[in-house]
Amino acid sequence: MKREDITYFGAGPAYLPSDVLATAAGALLNYEETGLGVAEHSHRSELATNILNSMKADLAEFLDIPDTYEILIMQGGGSGEFSATIYNLVAVWVEKRRKQLVRERGENVSEEELVKELQKQVQTELRLDYLVTGSWSLKASQEAARLLGPEYVNVALDARTANEGKFGKIPEESTWKLSQKAALVYMCENETVDGVEFPRFPKALEPTGSEDGPIVVGDFSSTILSRRIPVENYSIIFFGAQKNLGVTGITVTIIKKSLLPPTISPAAPSLLRKLGLPIAPVILDYATIAKNNSLYNTLSIFDVYVAGQVLKKLLATFPDKVDGQQAAAERKAASLYAVLDAYPDVYRVVADKSVRSRMNICFRVTKGGNVDEAEKAFLKGAVERGLTGLKGHRSVGGIRASNYNAIPESGVQKLAVYLKEYATA
Ligand code: PLP
Repeated sequence: MKREDITYFGAGPAYLPSDVLATAAGALLNYEETGLGVAEHSHRSELATNILNSMKADLAEFLDIPDTYEILIMQGGGSGEFSATIYNLVAVWVEKRRKQLVRERGENVSEEELVKELQKQVQTELRLDYLVTGSWSLKASQEAARLLGPEYVNVALDARTANEGKFGKIPEESTWKLSQKAALVYMCENETVDGVEFPRFPKALEPTGSEDGPIVVGDFSSTILSRRIPVENYSIIFFGAQKNLGVTGITVTIIKKSLLPPTISPAAPSLLRKLGLPIAPVILDYATIAKNNSLYNTLSIFDVYVAGQVLKKLLATFPDKVDGQQAAAERKAASLYAVLDAYPDVYRVVADKSVRSRMNICFRVTKGGNVDEAEKAFLKGAVERGLTGLKGHRSVGGIRASNYNAIPESGVQKLAVYLKEYATA
């Protein structure tokens, strides 16, 4: 089968623009007439640093990231960030508390007294808040319970309770049970498996203007570069490259510089050990990665190069940057939801209208009453038309059309035509 014959709707790793891949293939063999491929050059060479810095600058340009934020290129994927955010923000929380105690009790306070008081505060006040709106935020909350213990994890919202035990809605903010001064409040902007997306930034998490405002962590793995982000409402934004940015292998963390040294250093490992709290492996330690311009250890410069090419293409395509891409994403998603809604006896969209994802359109095929049979037939017909990767996540079944940036409008139209054809056959 030829590449041009299909449109691939898989959820990740995802489809990439063919011209970007062709350029990358050339660079893999011989990068800019150096006789050596981009994956073979040292990650410490000037050439590699230029690729890295240019990719970071283009990302900041496309998303309007203020320079009060640092961009870190990490490894370990979104799952690595579930852990990294916990290690780092717990260490920041402890350090803030330690500094405050020293201020209150004077520079001469003994180490023993500090540890005793901090132990008390950790037990009674250290909390991590999770807004569980789908399978990925659930996983992130489970990682917090695994690393720290469930007593430190506050599930401020479990969206299943208001929806017959299933994900698909986001209950009103007035029902959320947020902690006071949580070490972090975690949200997944777009739940890739369940097709649920936050329509806007929650009012309850808006900055208060004080240092004690919410420390919000946003998982943007499946929605980055497809919508404008109010960056300054977040302390940390993270995402793997493999959906809207590039090939699998790098993870981007955008972090407020005020959470990094010299403003705040995480608590010393020796103190964390005394408090029974976990210590970040060095490759997940944001301060270390920031200090080394993301080159603490060997980074895949090829992955960074591909991401850079995707960003250059986006910047050239959309003069109004992410707003232009957002409009395109919304247009594509709207045309698919319109067909699905037009045939309520044949299709059922999983997510409530108020929180439908623009990136992962999840639905069931109910035609004829036997959902399993109907979905098998639907998928078979789709593949025959070159529409692939539509099978839903194995944990939930159903159909999922991932509408990432690289899916052309013409590919979406082909799917819309097939949806109509199947419904009316
Ligand atoms: N978060 C979201 C929203 C995801 O969609 C995924 C993977 O698809 C992850 C986290 C986990 O990412 P990774 O596979 O890079 O660890």
